[in-house]
Amino acid sequence: MLIIPCPYCGPRDETEFAYGGEAHVVRPDPAEDDAAWSARLFLRHNPKGWTRERWRHQIGCGQWFNLCRDTATNAIGPAYRMGDAQPPFPDRETKP
Ligand SMILES: [Zn+2]
Repeated sequence: MLIIPCPYCGPRDETEFAYGGEAHVVRPDPAEDDAAWSARLFLRHNPKGWTRERWRHQIGCGQWFNLCRDTATNAIGPAYRMGDAQPPFPDRETKP
């Protein structure tokens, strides 16, 4: 069971949240070709380790935010509001 720190409400159970995919996906220029749009729509990074994801507190405040999560250990890192500066990933030594 994950405890996710909503930046608006504080720590809550993962069942209150909806996963929104990879964070910080850059929208291509409208003049870009189909390959660029195809990559934006269908290709995502799939790293093993720390990543940044979008989450929504759907049974709570309803806000979207970004969360650092380790995909190998499911360790939860800092959460931050949309538009805020990206916090660094936690040190590897602090992973559970
Ligand atoms: Zn919330």
